[in-house]
Amino acid sequence: MKEFDYVIIGGGCAGLSLAYELEINDKLKNKSLAIIEPRPEYKRDKTWSFWKVFDHNFEDCVIKSWNHFSINISDNSQELKSEKYPYQSIDSGKFYKKINSKLYSNNNIQFFKNINEIETKNSIIFNSVINGKKDTSKLWQHFQGIEIETSKDIFDDKILNLMDFNCDQKNDVHFFYTLPYSKNKALIETTWLSSLEDKTLMDYDLQLDNYIKNNLGIKIFKINYKEKGAIPLFYPDTEKQIKKIDIGSIGRMTRLSTGYTFLNIQEHSKYIRKNIDNIENVKIFELGKKYQFLDKVFLKVLKNNPDRMPEIFYKMFTNPSNIVIKFLSNKTNIFEDLRIISKMPKWIFIKALIN
Ligand SMILES: Cc1cc2nc3c(=O)[nH]c(=O)nc-3n(C[C@H](O)[C@H](O)[C@H](O)COP(=O)(O)OP(=O)(O)OC[C@H]3O[C@@H](n4cnc5c(N)ncnc54)[C@H](O)[C@@H]3O)c2cc1C
Repeated sequence: MKEFDYVIIGGGCAGLSLAYELEINDKLKNKSLAIIEPRPEYKRDKTWSFWKVFDHNFEDCVIKSWNHFSINISDNSQELKSEKYPYQSIDSGKFYKKINSKLYSNNNIQFFKNINEIETKNSIIFNSVINGKKDTSKLWQHFQGIEIETSKDIFDDKILNLMDFNCDQKNDVHFFYTLPYSKNKALIETTWLSSLEDKTLMDYDLQLDNYIKNNLGIKIFKINYKEKGAIPLFYPDTEKQIKKIDIGSIGRMTRLSTGYTFLNIQEHSKYIRKNIDNIENVKIFELGKKYQFLDKVFLKVLKNNPDRMPEIFYKMFTNPSNIVIKFLSNKTNIFEDLRIISKMPKWIFIKALIN
């Protein structure tokens, strides 16, 4: 069986981002790479959105960038602005196409459906596949989004709605999210922060239909595209192995308080590319102990006080928007962290810290 210098298990966001980063920086000229990916074909299946706090390789896959965003709770709403850090959405269909057409032009790169088709004894393995059963009792961000189109111009496409808490929260945390791509096209998502055990939270089609008709006042629309997902707000277990480096969600690239992962994956890919010749000996790339600690406390607060979360998210955004964006993108200094923390309700955070 054939052997490769590098093996990437999972040709999804992290696997392909890494392969592309290596390829465009000439790291695969004299090295071979196998990508293991079972999916029969690539098509648009996700929309990756994030604040662009640094440059990335996929500007040509961006559906739209916004400098304005809003947040709504039952008795208040605020509009925020950031010229410095636009919010961007990436079309995964374009992303897969761009990367795959580049990778196919290098004969040192080969695709396989199953790891058993190659020899891996001496290879460096980059793994993005989560093994084992889903732990449904833990906290997840689960959601469904639909891209709708209307015959008339309805949306203000200059401003996205990051969180609209004007909806039934049940005993969890629930909000809607609207990304207006144009005046008559938008991606609208229903998002829950909860365990995956209560199936009554998952009538997403109905939730979206009610929200679009009753909250947005849009009675007639066409659905162009649908996506659905569940992001673990905990780190799934992974087996430690010599010569194996976890990447993507299994590589702990998700910010547990928000689910944001895409830009962290890009940063991780750059780190691996810079250190590729010595990757077994450099330290494991992490989002930072500080954010891991703060997110742990935040998620404890969320679990114990779901009813307070709309107010807590809202208060966080009363800080200058660039600071909040940097905080959510793991780029704050200690003074900026303190500003964020100072806006939080003290007692419930102290209680979460003590317990
Ligand atoms: C619908 C959706 C929307 C999201 N939106 C955002 C967002 O807006 N912003 C953000 O920052 N994050 C978002 N995320 C979170 C995160 O960015 C994505 O989950 C991202 O795709 C994670 O990349 P990954 O490579 O770890 O996993 P994936 O992209 O899922 O890649 C894993 C790959 O492994 C393959 N695979 C599965 N089993 C095997 C096997 N046995 N052997 C080999 N390969 C296998 C899969 O087919 C897949 O291609 C979203 C997630 C989902 C599900």
